[in-house]
Amino acid sequence: MNLEELHSLFLQHPDVCTDTRKITENCLFFALKGPNFNGNKFAKEALEKGAAYAIIDEESYKLSDKYVLCDDVLETLQKLSTFHRNQCKAKIVSLTGSNGKTTTKELIHAVLSGKYSTIATKGNLNNHIGVPLTLLSIKPETEIAVVEMGANHKREIAFLSSIAQPDFGYITNFGKAHLEGFGGVEGVIQGKSELYEYLTSNNKYVFLNADDPIQMQKLDSYVKKIGFSTTNHQYFNITYIEANPFVVLEVEGTSIKTQLIGKYNFTNCCAAIIIGKYFGVPLEEIKIALEAYQPQNNRSQVMSQSGFKIVLDAYNANPSSMQVALENFKEMEGDEKSLILGDMFELGSEAAQEHQRIADLAKGLEFQEVFLVGENFHLTETPFRKFKSFEALKDYIGQNPLKKGNLLIKGSRGMALERVLDVL
Ligand code: ATP
Ligand code: MG
Repeated sequence: MNLEELHSLFLQHPDVCTDTRKITENCLFFALKGPNFNGNKFAKEALEKGAAYAIIDEESYKLSDKYVLCDDVLETLQKLSTFHRNQCKAKIVSLTGSNGKTTTKELIHAVLSGKYSTIATKGNLNNHIGVPLTLLSIKPETEIAVVEMGANHKREIAFLSSIAQPDFGYITNFGKAHLEGFGGVEGVIQGKSELYEYLTSNNKYVFLNADDPIQMQKLDSYVKKIGFSTTNHQYFNITYIEANPFVVLEVEGTSIKTQLIGKYNFTNCCAAIIIGKYFGVPLEEIKIALEAYQPQNNRSQVMSQSGFKIVLDAYNANPSSMQVALENFKEMEGDEKSLILGDMFELGSEAAQEHQRIADLAKGLEFQEVFLVGENFHLTETPFRKFKSFEALKDYIGQNPLKKGNLLIKGSRGMALERVLDVL
């Protein structure tokens, strides 16, 4: 079956499944392989559970004409998604960056949805499988698709760009994330910039933060660019008012009061504003969308519990987002502020140094109590109480209740520090 024929099959069965636990009636099942599983083995089960066809790449599993044999299932999924993308009228707005991709993606989606039929990456499906799945969720009526792209190695964004072929793009920032895979910050900059390079070499538009010195260094190489800035009048001006705790900003005389905490969310909002403006969304509608948006999934959420006012930022962490989170928490109103910080993963040879830097920063900013959790933080030299594991912290808190007040909880996903909520 060639790509065109497969695409016709897909149009008749537009639900795509890759997991037999989530089969929907009449879907196309793509039998992907992983390090520990072979999807071909699950094709039969997928069909029994209601899949219309199973796309496989090992002939021995083909039992009927409900099995579509190809050379490589992953490659076929990717090629089909590009083919589909090119059959659709939707414009693709793609974004990458070290921090804030999902938040910015959701904000852009919220801003554009009022005026356009818009789809966006579901959750965090931003890799070599997630991007194709997102493209395959584009419907005939879709006008704009907002596609998040994640990477932890160089050349990945170039590859994802070749699959999604975006018309517009935005890089949230260049930070100290996935240093291990990128080989340091320079590698992060090169890796993320692959999106702007793709756009420029294809004569497409770059949205950019003109206050970011790294983005500005490469500015001349981008031909079609639309930027925002707080100070540079060559670009669309947006004024930062405060983040206390919620971000308030002003644009063209209109004040926008968001439900997002942290100054870092200001730039995320700015991106959604210039993209909304570019696509002709009235400022009043942009305001409504930004003011209504509430963060999800433990991403900088504010909550009250057992006498604590909690900033729960346990979704993920890396040295850049940790630093801004600490600085921002320090600036927030209130005195009695404590921290529970968990290890930051994927830092390779820079792990010891970066954990020490954060421990030192926490010391310099002077908080009420600081608790550090995880094997990396445990190795730091600091006056703070350190715990090798979450269980050790839990035992400690059980016997020594924390002092009431404001509490910032942040760590990498693997630390799952939202568990702290159960032990307060
Ligand atoms: P992932 O790599 O897991 O896909 P992401 O880039 O999609 O992450 P989000 O999920 O939007 O990022 O946000 C995760 C956390 O990153 C937030 O809770 C916040 O702590 C931090 N963050 C968000 N935006 C920024 C930003 N612009 N600069 C620095 N840190 C940010
Ligand atoms: Mg994300």
